[in-house]
Amino acid sequence: MSKPMRLFLGGLVHETSSFSPLPTSVQSFRDGVLIHRSASQALRQIAAQPNLVGVVAAAARQGDTLLPGLYAEAQPSGPLSRADYEQLRDELLADLRAHISLGPVDAVLLVLHGAMLAEGYHDCEGDLLQRVRELVGPRVPLGALLDLHCNLSPAMVESGAVLVACKEYPHIDYAARGEELHAMLSAMARGELALKAQWRRVPMLGIFGTTQPPMRDFVRLLQASEQAVPGIASVSVLHGFPWSDTPHTSAAVLVLAQDTPAAAKAATQLLGELSEAFYELRDRASAHRLPLPAALDEAVAAMQSSDGRPVVLADTADNAGGGAAGDSTFVLRELLERGIRDVALGMIWDPQAVAIATSAGAGARLPLRIGGKVGPMSGDPVDLDVEVLACRPDARQRSLTPGGTDALGPAVAVRAGGIDIVLNSVRQQVFSPDCFTELGVTPGDKRLVVVKSTQHFRSGFDAMAATVVYADSPGSLQSDLGRLPYKHLPRPVWPLD
Ligand SMILES: [Zn+2]
Repeated sequence: MSKPMRLFLGGLVHETSSFSPLPTSVQSFRDGVLIHRSASQALRQIAAQPNLVGVVAAAARQGDTLLPGLYAEAQPSGPLSRADYEQLRDELLADLRAHISLGPVDAVLLVLHGAMLAEGYHDCEGDLLQRVRELVGPRVPLGALLDLHCNLSPAMVESGAVLVACKEYPHIDYAARGEELHAMLSAMARGELALKAQWRRVPMLGIFGTTQPPMRDFVRLLQASEQAVPGIASVSVLHGFPWSDTPHTSAAVLVLAQDTPAAAKAATQLLGELSEAFYELRDRASAHRLPLPAALDEAVAAMQSSDGRPVVLADTADNAGGGAAGDSTFVLRELLERGIRDVALGMIWDPQAVAIATSAGAGARLPLRIGGKVGPMSGDPVDLDVEVLACRPDARQRSLTPGGTDALGPAVAVRAGGIDIVLNSVRQQVFSPDCFTELGVTPGDKRLVVVKSTQHFRSGFDAMAATVVYADSPGSLQSDLGRLPYKHLPRPVWPLD
């Protein structure tokens, strides 16, 4: 029988790259999502967060009372300062303490990432979950929704939190995972379910998209195991986040089972099987990324044989969603040098160029210096004589979760050398064709579409793409992990050893 809960909801979400040229501050969260408990519409705003859609729907059906706490989310970038992390963490803890002082809290549910770093903190999620546990005591169910690019840590698991990661990359399944987490926390709050976690590090790192085999089938296997193996409540496969340099950076498998000897035995066996199966997939499951010249050769060949639909080329190393600046010019320069035309390219993060082109206005022609501004990993700026196609003060694109949108800020489309380039002001990876169509550029009509994204673009572009080519261009997220200056990464780990 369902029973309404008083459910605390909060979030502190950041994917931190140790190698990003961009530091992270409280302001970075203001530029993203920063909802304080004291805000007049706090509950309505938190309930509207795309990652919480499943949780909120399940809570509404059960008649839960939602108790809002801090909800903060920033675009991936470098580590936070100690003071800024502690400020956000302590605000979230104070919000929880305030609710506890007003009445019983039946369960706590947090949205976290799993790869958040701050000065002095290798494991912000472990630190936060341990502190929440201290506050609520051992018996109040505590759960966290995680990104599968989580570097799972002993502190996170030892907090006794029910940890549920998304299974899909692109992360299109937060709604389903949220429903599952809510159901487990509800059953625990009613005293009908006790869970025990088992986990294992899988010594591998990589980018493992789930839209195609063999990861597609592996996700199905995970879901089947949750249904078929008695006593198993939830299975999460963490891919790890290779650009976050910590003592627990790695892939991992986590199995939550009922707290009985039989279920524990089944969980141990399943954990072993899934860990081995995941490790076996490592090479085949990794994105097939070509060095930029070879990727463009392949794209041009595919353009010649395509049926009119565009070839989509992913500039994987300059993905703002992994902490890159999003203003690299390596692909643009190569396209211009080769004279490849009929191209849409987006988005280059360049607020200054946006402001200059906006002042000139749609229809204007002007010399414009584009991109290459943040640092060496962005390459050099490109100087072009451009035609301004369109200007928007407030462009947006659909995010991965249905109904959600992300701000792109003031944005422009400019044309030079047969290439339509979208420049924007709020650093953001390409999720959806909206980032082009908002500016009057129709990617489906082009021969080549270049997107700055590693994998998430596939949910929005697969339907129009003749084929997808992954370019391992130079940049912050270049895939040769052997060239990253790791200090803490545990070895051995595939593919480095
Ligand atoms: Zn992720």
